[in-house]
Amino acid sequence: MREIAIAGGGPSGSICGERLARAGFEVTLYDEHLAWEKPCGGGLTYKAIQAYPFLLDGPHPKKLIYTVELISSRGHRARLQLDRPIVIYSRAVLNGLLLDRAAAAGCQVVRSRVTQVDTTGERVRLLAGGAERTADFVVLAAGARNTLVPETRPLRRDDLELTLGYFVPAHADAIQVKFLRRFEGYLWSFPRCDHLSVGICGSMARHTSQELRGHLHDFLREEHIDTAGARLYSHVLPSPQPQTLRTRRVVGKNWALVGDAAGWVDPITGEGLYYALRSGDLLGQSLAAGAPQEYPARVRADFSANLEFATRIARRFYRGRFLGGAVATRMIQFVGRSATFRELMSDLFSGAQDYRSLKRRLWVQCGVTLTEVISSLLKLQPTLAQNSPGRAEPAP
Ligand SMILES: Cc1cc2nc3c(=O)[nH]c(=O)nc-3n(C[C@H](O)[C@H](O)[C@H](O)COP(=O)(O)OP(=O)(O)OC[C@H]3O[C@@H](n4cnc5c(N)ncnc54)[C@H](O)[C@@H]3O)c2cc1C
Repeated sequence: MREIAIAGGGPSGSICGERLARAGFEVTLYDEHLAWEKPCGGGLTYKAIQAYPFLLDGPHPKKLIYTVELISSRGHRARLQLDRPIVIYSRAVLNGLLLDRAAAAGCQVVRSRVTQVDTTGERVRLLAGGAERTADFVVLAAGARNTLVPETRPLRRDDLELTLGYFVPAHADAIQVKFLRRFEGYLWSFPRCDHLSVGICGSMARHTSQELRGHLHDFLREEHIDTAGARLYSHVLPSPQPQTLRTRRVVGKNWALVGDAAGWVDPITGEGLYYALRSGDLLGQSLAAGAPQEYPARVRADFSANLEFATRIARRFYRGRFLGGAVATRMIQFVGRSATFRELMSDLFSGAQDYRSLKRRLWVQCGVTLTEVISSLLKLQPTLAQNSPGRAEPAP
C-alpha cells in the first residue's frame, strides 16, 4: 500500500495525512473548503494539549481560559477556576495550522469536493472536483454527515445533535455553560481571541431547531450578549448511541472512518476535537504498521471504551434527578460548596478524569463532599477554599 487519499481536511484528516506522509506514504488530502471557520466552540481540553503540545506552544492565535461559569436551569451559578487551561482556537486558524503541518510533512493538499468513492475494485476510485483519481486506501474524514462509503451505515438521527449559534464580535475571559430543564444538551459561550462562539446543542431526535433557537435567544438576552454584527451558524454534531459505538463498521479492506465521520464525540460534553485528532493519529499508526485491521482495537484501547461508558450515562446526566433536583443543578450547587467536588469537576473539564473511574471516585469522596456541602450550608465554612484546584464562588 503506497497511495492514500483522504476525503476531508479537518483535524482528523489533517493529522492522519501528516502521520502517513511522515511514514513515507504518498498522501493526497481533498477538502472542499480547506482552512475554514467550521461551526464549533474550538475548545481543546488539557488532555488534547498533553497529547499534542504544539497546540499550546505554537505561535498561532489562541485564547487560554482558566475560568468556567456553570449556570443551572434555575439560575444557580458557580465559577470553576481551572489549574490547566482550556485552549480555544478559531477553527480557521486551527484547521489552517493542521493542514500546514500535513503539507510540510509531504502531504499533497487539494481544494476539491469528493463526490463519489468506489471501494469495490482493486484500487479505490474517487471523484474529486469532477476528476477521477485512484488510491490504494481512502480515509473518510469528511465529518458527521458523510455517506461516501455504502459499506457502513450513516449516523442516524438519534446519533446526532443539532447545533445553532453565533460568532459574536465581543470579548470575555470565562467560558459559560448553561443547562436547561428537561433538555438533552446545553448552551455555551466560548471566548476566542477576537470574538465569542455562543451556541446550543441538543439531541436531534428529541428537540427541534425552533426550540433550540428560542433557548439560544433567551440565553443571549439573559447574559446581555449583543448580537449586532454577529454571524449565525448551524451544524450537526455526533452524539452516538451505545450500540453505534459498539457495532458500526469503521474500517474495511481499503477504507476507514476517522473523527466525526466515525461518530467519535463525547455525548455529554460534545468534545470532538481530541477524538478527531486521536483517531486520525491512531489510523495513521495502524496503516504505517501495515495493519489497518488493528485500528478499531487501538481506538478501543485508547478512548472508545470510555466514550461508550459516557453514552450510557449521558441520558441520566441530562434527564436524571438527584436529591430531589436535576443532576446538573445539584452538580452546580456542589461545585459552589465543596472543594473536593470542585477538584473532581476541574479534572473532568481538563480530561484528567475519565468516565469509567468517575463513579468510584464519586463514591470514595462522597462522605467528605457531603460534609463540605452541609458545613457550607450551615455556614460553618464561611469562605470556600480559595486556592485549591477548581476553586469556586458559592452558589446561591
Ligand atoms: C457547534 C459545534 C461546537 C463544537 N464545539 C467543540 C468544542 O468546543 N470542542 C471540541 O472538542 N469539539 C467541538 N465540536 C466538535 C468538533 O467540531 C468536531 O468533533 C471536529 O471538528 C471533528 O473533526 P473532523 O476532522 O472529524 O471533522 P470536521 O472538522 O467536520 O472536518 C471535516 C472536513 O471535511 C470537509 N468535507 C466535508 N465533506 C467533504 C467532501 N465531500 N469532500 C471534501 N471535503 C469535505 C469539510 O470541509 C471539513 O473541513 C463542536 C461541534 C459543533 C458542531
